[in-house]
Amino acid sequence: MAAGAGEVRRAVYPGSFDPPTLGHLDIISRAARLFDELIVAVAVNAQKKPLFTLEERVAMLQECCQHLPNVRVVPLQGLLARFAQSVGACVIVRGLRAVSDFEYEFQMASMNRQLAPEVDTCFLMTHQQYAFLSSSIVKEVARLGGDVSQLVPPNVHARLTQRFAAESAGEATPATNL
Ligand code: ADP
Repeated sequence: MAAGAGEVRRAVYPGSFDPPTLGHLDIISRAARLFDELIVAVAVNAQKKPLFTLEERVAMLQECCQHLPNVRVVPLQGLLARFAQSVGACVIVRGLRAVSDFEYEFQMASMNRQLAPEVDTCFLMTHQQYAFLSSSIVKEVARLGGDVSQLVPPNVHARLTQRFAAESAGEATPATNL
């Protein structure tokens, strides 16, 4: 149910966060200012094969959000709409970058409204500086040894460096477009 006067306004920010980027953190810090409580929900997402495990993604975000007392990071299994209802959230937060994000986000927001009509989806426009930034491009560049230190928080950068150092010690780098 939507929060009434005096009630806690709780929002959920779901995503894969594989890995978290400065674009995600910008959305988190802005949403934390808009709502009383923000739950960052890290999706298992069986359809994607993540670079980092669920536990690693949750840990990285917890490290990044330590300075935000009204932000909690939790793993998300199952339906987002049901999760939002179960924690009493009135809003789902999503970030929007280019027009290309719109169609997917529109579909998801419509489906979530169908499943949980009392939970609204709120879109925050990306900071111009992060408009091109995605977890996939960060992984692709880092895998090839490019510098992503300006695109992700330092703890994520350290883990990426470690992960790809281990990978390149063990196997050949696959071809990409970059
Ligand atoms: P998903 O796999 O659910 O799309 P992501 O982890 O890629 O999860 O993204 C989570 C949310 O953050 C999405 O709403 C996405 O549009 C948004 N997002 C991702 N990167 C940025 C960015 N650079 N600026 C603003 N929003 C972003």
